[in-house]
Amino acid sequence: MPSLNEIRSTFLGFFEKNGHRVVESSPLVPRNDPTLMFTNSGMVQFKNAFTGLETRDYNRATTAQKCVRAGGKHNDLDNVGYTARHHTFFEMLGNFSFGDYFKSEAIPYAWNLLTKEFGIPKEKLLVTVYHTDDDAAETWKKVAGLSDDRIIRIATNDNFWQMGPTGPCGPCTEIFFDHGEDIWGGPPGSADEDGDRFIEIWNIVFMQNEQFEDGSMRALDMQSIDTGMGLERIGALLQGKHDNYDTDLMRDLIEASANLSSNDPDGPGKVHHRVIADHLRSTSFLIADGVMPSNEGRGYVLRRIMRRAMRHVHMLGVQDPMMHRLVPELVSQMGAAYPELSRAQPLIQETLRSEETRFRQTLDRGLRLLDDELSRLPEGGNLPGETAFKLYDTYGFPLDLTQDALREKGRAVDIEGFDSAMAEQKAKARAAWAGSGETKDAAIWFDIAEQHGVTEFLGYDTEEAEGQI
Ligand code: ATP
Ligand code: MG
Ligand code: MG
Ligand code: MG
Repeated sequence: MPSLNEIRSTFLGFFEKNGHRVVESSPLVPRNDPTLMFTNSGMVQFKNAFTGLETRDYNRATTAQKCVRAGGKHNDLDNVGYTARHHTFFEMLGNFSFGDYFKSEAIPYAWNLLTKEFGIPKEKLLVTVYHTDDDAAETWKKVAGLSDDRIIRIATNDNFWQMGPTGPCGPCTEIFFDHGEDIWGGPPGSADEDGDRFIEIWNIVFMQNEQFEDGSMRALDMQSIDTGMGLERIGALLQGKHDNYDTDLMRDLIEASANLSSNDPDGPGKVHHRVIADHLRSTSFLIADGVMPSNEGRGYVLRRIMRRAMRHVHMLGVQDPMMHRLVPELVSQMGAAYPELSRAQPLIQETLRSEETRFRQTLDRGLRLLDDELSRLPEGGNLPGETAFKLYDTYGFPLDLTQDALREKGRAVDIEGFDSAMAEQKAKARAAWAGSGETKDAAIWFDIAEQHGVTEFLGYDTEEAEGQI
């Protein structure tokens, strides 16, 4: 049974053999790209190579790219712990052509790797194509001999890939694996497609357009290929598992979490362990790439992920900071593939330890307040926005942490109430400034804050957030 580390090597080796340059993962903080919060796919570092702004000394590349999807167009934070297939941090394996090969080669590459190199039975696979893309459908028929009912035409954005609100994009074809009738879920495009029976493993994008801010789109001068396959998803498959969290690497982290908390990895704390394992990876890799917890921008997204994880640690009944004690296990697994992780180990541990120590000073009291409020609410009632705001303002609970805590209890936050409590506090702050005799400076400050948005909230209103960083 191949390990994730082995699968990563096999993938890169396969494309290297086929004339692709093995390129290192780019950092999680995109270089010179104000439109994107974190690197969310393999194509990010090649964006300008697709649009023709930049030429490279190779026109075929392959990567294992670190990705974080915890904000912006692709946000999987709320899926973690609840689906078999989503992480906030994952590795995307990809092959790229910059104006070199196109559909008729990209499809056979993917098919051969999956069915020959990896030995996945053909009957378990099905594909989707963009509804107007007859070309892709024909190619699949020819290359894989798939019957028409296994080539599903999709008219939605699921088969038109975009990195964010702007940038290179195009129709895509995706490969799905059928995990069998025992698992709930329908094929792509059906009403039950959100289930976990049919798992999307690989997306092959035919890069041929560029989207602009004003909504217009142009055809790119050259036709390119951008693909992405989640290492953890193909790993689950090749390890005979259905669930990403049962792959070797994730499983070791879950067991470490269970050991440190003296809990059963598969007992009632199961979701907590999964969230902890996932969030440990995203926070550690973000810190290794230079993000530090703060109250604004990327740093606030990091802090939100950390604090969410810390609440889950608390829910396991652990009294002392625990996240930092899981770092050695992570580094021992991934430090060889990502040396920046090993280099940053002391910083990661210290940052996690001090954040958790600090947050623990208010976490317990905040959770008690929350429980108290809930016990007074009518059955199924939403948490008043004012309470969520108090938790945010006094106890350091990011809104999404409160929402995550409520979800286990089938409740939600009254968001309008939260927003108005926030607006009220801002108005008070403005009035206080105005009364302080520093009116002119204050007016300027508030104008700037309003023009650029309150940065603390980056990541809530995520579409807007992307544009603001
Ligand atoms: P899904 O529909 O399952 O959310 P996606 O369509 O959002 O996936 P893409 O943007 O097409 O995913 O990314 C390419 C590939 O990256 C996916 O086919 C999948 O293998 C992997 N992937 C995407 N999101 C995640 C995630 N949150 N965790 C792990 N792997 C992921
Ligand atoms: Mg998704
Ligand atoms: Mg999808
Ligand atoms: Mg997809």
